[in-house]
Amino acid sequence: MLDSYAVIGNPISHSKSPLIHKNFAQQAEQSMQYDALLAPLDGFEATVENFRQHGGKGMNVTVPFKLEAYRLATRLTERATIAQAVNTLKFKNDEILGDNTDGAGLVRDIECNLGIPIAEKRILLLGAGGAARGVILPLLQQNPSLLAIANRTPAKAVALQEQFNRYGNSIAGDFMHFSDAHFDIIINATSASLHDALPEIPAGVFAQATLAYDMMYRQEPTRFLKFAQQNGTHQIADGIGMLVEQAAESFLLWRGIRPQTKPVIAMLKSQI
Ligand code: NDP
Repeated sequence: MLDSYAVIGNPISHSKSPLIHKNFAQQAEQSMQYDALLAPLDGFEATVENFRQHGGKGMNVTVPFKLEAYRLATRLTERATIAQAVNTLKFKNDEILGDNTDGAGLVRDIECNLGIPIAEKRILLLGAGGAARGVILPLLQQNPSLLAIANRTPAKAVALQEQFNRYGNSIAGDFMHFSDAHFDIIINATSASLHDALPEIPAGVFAQATLAYDMMYRQEPTRFLKFAQQNGTHQIADGIGMLVEQAAESFLLWRGIRPQTKPVIAMLKSQI
């Protein structure tokens, strides 16, 4: 029987994870199966248990179950403990190991694929939801000179900043709080782009050399990326690289092999 893996979420039919992992498996000559599993909104744990009982080896977890996966894990990696969210599960005997590979994926995409070192950079992170929570520690571990966290509901940004402040220099506020400052890297980790909306950020945060990065991906640049270009930014990137890199990090945890990501990113970009 093939080792079996799956991505679990609701909705799930849009997920690119089966395509990505099938590509990784071929490339690494690994015999494994990878499917997409739709869990009812009130049936995450039961769906995971059923998969596990049938010999499943691991899962990727996506919206809206990352917090439930965190609670379900019987052991957590340090980065998942600190993020308080899990996007990767690995099953071994009775143990459910929970990890969070989102932040490592983002950092690898910015540093390795886009060639932009994070050290000494001024970063503005927009959003304070699950995606933002998962990337703060990995960003701070690269020693940026500043990490500013801005959110529509500022109290959530302040709470995150207080939680992570001991790992690096950080500040927090609402979007307008940063109207007088330029940033080197601005990351949109809000879900605004999912609804074709623009976070209400001041235009002055962008400079010519700023990297504007949207975790969302689609065929056309998002409104956030267009806004960044209109305000002088020359470098924009969407979240495809992050998606593939976080998947590669999960594959490494499960199979002990880090697959090549560049050909998979190129393949996905040509398809979307
Ligand atoms: P959450 O629902 O947990 O958080 C949503 C965040 O977006 C909150 O901070 C919310 O602010 C903010 N927000 C929502 N709408 C608006 C708006 N119109 N203007 C300003 N802020 C807004 O979502 P996630 O954190 O899980 O996901 C965020 C994004 O990241 C999604 O687009 C998701 O697809 C993407 N993502 C991409 C990944 C990748 O690999 N490329 C991996 C993980 C996520 P408030 O607190 O005020 O409500």
